[in-house]
Formats: sequence, structure tokens, C-alpha cells
Amino acid sequence: MSEPVFVRFWGTRGSIPTPGHKTRRYGGNTSCVEIRVGELLLICDGGTGLRELGLDLLARGRPNVEAHLFFSHMHWDHIQGFPFFVPAYSPANSLYVYELSPSDDRVQRLLHGQMRSEYFPVTFTDLGARIVGRHFENQRTEFGGVRVRSLQQTHPGISYAYAFEIGDRKIVYATDSELDLLLSDLEEPLRDPQALRRLPDSLVEFCRDADLLIADGQYTDEEYPQKKGWGHARANTVVDLAVQARAKRCAIFHHDPMHTDELVDHKIRAAEARLTHAGSACQVFGAREGLVLKID
Ligand SMILES: [Zn+2]
Ligand SMILES: [Zn+2]
Repeated sequence: MSEPVFVRFWGTRGSIPTPGHKTRRYGGNTSCVEIRVGELLLICDGGTGLRELGLDLLARGRPNVEAHLFFSHMHWDHIQGFPFFVPAYSPANSLYVYELSPSDDRVQRLLHGQMRSEYFPVTFTDLGARIVGRHFENQRTEFGGVRVRSLQQTHPGISYAYAFEIGDRKIVYATDSELDLLLSDLEEPLRDPQALRRLPDSLVEFCRDADLLIADGQYTDEEYPQKKGWGHARANTVVDLAVQARAKRCAIFHHDPMHTDELVDHKIRAAEARLTHAGSACQVFGAREGLVLKID
């Protein structure tokens, strides 16, 4: 498959939507990323950004929507857009929802749960679209020329990263992961903030040579000590993962709800300086709503 891959960010905020003028540039919608190659549509997470993706899919004017949905985990900021995803209401459409193992029905069960009548006026079983459960086997699945691997992450209640290989392109989606708890020396970032933060080989291999690494970099180095154990990483630690994995581009994702656009800029400038210091050719940027990347 040699067609270009397009990645579009529909929601980049962590934890809770943050509409308002202070978050206008990076956006206030929660996690949702579209990966598109030709007719094939993959969706990572169903935060509030999924609502706008749904409206856009209708505006594209195709007779039906076929989408493959991958959920990192089921915290609110990753599922709340689903009941507002308009394509889920039409019988012409098919949604493939991926579970992490053959015996698992957790994703569909929890999507179902958040649409109980106490929470929402329409129930999951009333959705018109054909919703089909699919699953990973031994952390792998494959469809339409796309190979996908999953990796368990460190997060309250557990989350999963996904590595998508499409032809010779590789995109890794790794949000809600406290990388800083995986460091071989947990105290080193305090003693020597500039030292390369060593991450486990299994994680580095998972991200190896990614054309695009999208990863949770919610905090600055200064903020992290007060947020330890909350399940999110320092942006600078994500940079070090990108360096060790030799990723080409690195999107810092899942911005803190307390961060204004200026604070996200500050976090990204520190990340850029770190890459320069490391002598890496990787390009780091802050994921922002509406940004479209083309990966040839
Ligand atoms: Zn989250
Ligand atoms: Zn979470």
C-alpha cells in the first residue's frame, strides 16, 4: 500500500474538555485522532473530538461510513464523544470496535454502559449502525493491509498503545501512559534533568522508527512531581522516548486541562530544546485540533 496516509487531530486535550479563548489554538476537545489511507478509516479514541469527526464524515458525502475504532482505554475523556458520533445512528454504516483479546467484550460493554438511560437518551442497542466486535490475538490484528500491534501501558485502570503499520509507514498512538514510572532510575530526572531518560527496551522497540509518534506528554518537568501517579508523562520524557526509538516526528498529546495555549507553547519549546541538545533529527510539536499531517 503506497497511498499517502493522512493523520488528523480532532481532539488533543487530556482529562476534560476545555472550551474557551485560552485554549483556542491547541483546542479544547478530548482525545480523538483520525488515520486515513484511501478509503480506509481508523479512529483512535472517542473523546469529544469524535463528534466533529462524525460531522465531517457526513460532509464528505460518501454513501456510507466504515470505520475501525481503537480505544486506548475507557476513561471519560476517551469515550464521551461516542454517543454524539452521528454516523453511529445510520444503518448504512459499519463500525468495527477492537477488543484487546478474543474473550474480551469490555470496550463494547462500557460504550453500552455510558449510554444507559440514566446517562443518555438513546441506548447503545438503539444505534442504527452495524457495530461489529473485532479483537487482537497475541497483541496483533490485521485488516485491509494494515497491521496493528497493542502494548499495555502504565495508567490507573490500564491503557493500551497501538502501533499501526501501513505499507512501510508506521504510526504509534500512545496516550495516557506514565512513562516516568518506567524509567530505570526514577530520581535521575531530578538530579540531572538533561540526562537521557532510559525507557524499557520493549517500549522503545514498539515505537522503533515510527514516522509519527503521538504520545501523552501532559506535564512539564516542573509540574510532574506534584502529579506523580496520575497516569501521565512529562513531555520531556516523551522526547527521550522519540530519541531512543528514532521516531521521525513526535506529537506531544493529551494537553493538561490547566494549560493555556501559552503554557503548551512553553512545554513544546522545552521539548524542542531537548531534542536539539540530544542532536536528534526528530521533529517535535504540540498536537493541535485541526492539524492534518501527510505521511508519504
Ligand atoms: Zn485521558
Ligand atoms: Zn486515562
